[in-house]
Amino acid sequence: MASPAPLDRHHRPLGVLRLSLTARCNLACPYCLPDGQEPPGLLSLEERLLLVEAAVQLGVHTLRLTGGEPLLHGDLEALIGALAPLRQRPAGDRRGRLRQIALTTNGTLLSAERARSLREAGLERITISLDGADGTSVARMAGLASTAVPPASVGSAAMGAGGAGPGTEGETNNSRARGEVLLARVLAAIEHARAAGFDPAAGELKLNAVITRHGNADQLLPLAALARERGLELRLIEYMDVGNRNGWDPAEVISAAEMVGRIDTRWPLEPLGRDCHGTASRWRYRDGGGLLAAVASISAPFCGDCNRLRITADGVAYSCLFAAHGTDLRPWLRPRPDRDGLLAALSSLWRQRDDRYSEERSLSAMATANGSIATPDATAIPDAAVARQARPPAHAEMAYLGG
Ligand code: SAM
Ligand code: SF4
Repeated sequence: MASPAPLDRHHRPLGVLRLSLTARCNLACPYCLPDGQEPPGLLSLEERLLLVEAAVQLGVHTLRLTGGEPLLHGDLEALIGALAPLRQRPAGDRRGRLRQIALTTNGTLLSAERARSLREAGLERITISLDGADGTSVARMAGLASTAVPPASVGSAAMGAGGAGPGTEGETNNSRARGEVLLARVLAAIEHARAAGFDPAAGELKLNAVITRHGNADQLLPLAALARERGLELRLIEYMDVGNRNGWDPAEVISAAEMVGRIDTRWPLEPLGRDCHGTASRWRYRDGGGLLAAVASISAPFCGDCNRLRITADGVAYSCLFAAHGTDLRPWLRPRPDRDGLLAALSSLWRQRDDRYSEERSLSAMATANGSIATPDATAIPDAAVARQARPPAHAEMAYLGG
């Protein structure tokens, strides 16, 4: 049997597992653009349990469930509930102990009942993604503005589908109305989560926002205000070059320094730093308005202590977002589970892990003095084009993300 708690080639332990439950989504955020279809060979609940169990034995203490949109997955509560024995193990158990289960969701399907059932199943943290504080911005960032038909499952009646053609004033009004419905739904989801016991003051309920220069930069202050009013930590995420289809342009990236600087001008902030192995740097509002966080994956990458493993909905493990190849774990799950083989495969994957792509890239990317990404010139990011050619499928890259 593989020895527990492996370290990778840069002496980094394994700590967080980001498990994607589905590649499907009911939104089409242009910065993400998921595949929309499940890959063949989706894992079953039992197979996911085996994976989490093996990962926990190798050092994983935190499980983040993501997607696509994980609330589209019918077995979500059952999976969380079935993980309870891993969480009840005593500290020091040689099989490891799962300390926390978290979820990242767009919130559209988080009804009061769903929030309660997730809490009862044992979910401890929810991060809800919201990229704007008005209907127009929300529609644009969720991909509602350009779609003639509302995304599946959000619901045509709820989203106010209408017949105006593209580019007309009617379409603009229509998309704003759809954005307003979506915004109202996400704001309601926040309150459902709070009512179900997810306490923002304990870090159990947070907001994620991806900010792009021409998409929603004007939403920085409104989003900060919205989060402050609701006592939520807002996590500003730099626009990352993930997905095969999001047409990433470095000129669209607003650095964490610039985002935080703009908010600091309105509501002065005091830096708290970044926790070891954390993705976000944090600040406290000096007026007592709570916390702000920023994920600077592009401008200030944190590969040095990255402890995250990603597993896709179809069971392929990636040790880095930019790893060109994943390890298909299904041979150890089917037709019969081979627990020792799975443990050995995961352990070997982690021991061989050498990735620090973002840091390597940032050495060659130029950052301007004010912290914005300098140029869309491909020569400034020489590895990006190479990495793009050998990219994993979009649903694999989504497994990377998750709050
Ligand atoms: N559908 C869920 C949601 O939106 O929260 C979970 C999956 S989504 C891939 C997880 C997180 O990744 C979201 O907060 C989303 O905003 C973020 N994300 C997606 N594409 C991104 C990109 N290109 N750059 C930075 N963050 C991104
Ligand atoms: Fe869907 Fe989340 Fe991607 Fe938006 S960010 S398209 S909600 S998976």
